[in-house]
Amino acid sequence: MASCWCGASVRKSGLRPSTCGFHYAEYMRRYRQAIKQRAFEVLGQECLRCGFDADLRALEFDHVANDGKKHRKEVGVGGALMLAWIVKHPAEALQRVQVLCANCNTIKEAVHRAI
Ligand SMILES: [Zn+2]
Ligand SMILES: [Zn+2]
Repeated sequence: MASCWCGASVRKSGLRPSTCGFHYAEYMRRYRQAIKQRAFEVLGQECLRCGFDADLRALEFDHVANDGKKHRKEVGVGGALMLAWIVKHPAEALQRVQVLCANCNTIKEAVHRAI
């Protein structure tokens, strides 16, 4: 049995680092932040439509062809999996995914739904 650096014993699995439940949550939080940063580096760090770049928290990854649902089925559910896909397939990601701010993404959704 492996153990976390805090001393708690942990079961090793393919996905999890050797951390206990408590530190696994912390690990995932950091992992998600890091992978999101890298995805922004791949796709750009400003809104493609209006150029908003003041705060990354208001920027979203949008599927250009509105095929996000289908794509999520391919890569698996969970935000980090999609981000990991972007980082692993930068050329394909640039074709399929764009960065929009929350406002532009909401407007794009509304327009798409109205058609
Ligand atoms: Zn621990
Ligand atoms: Zn925008």
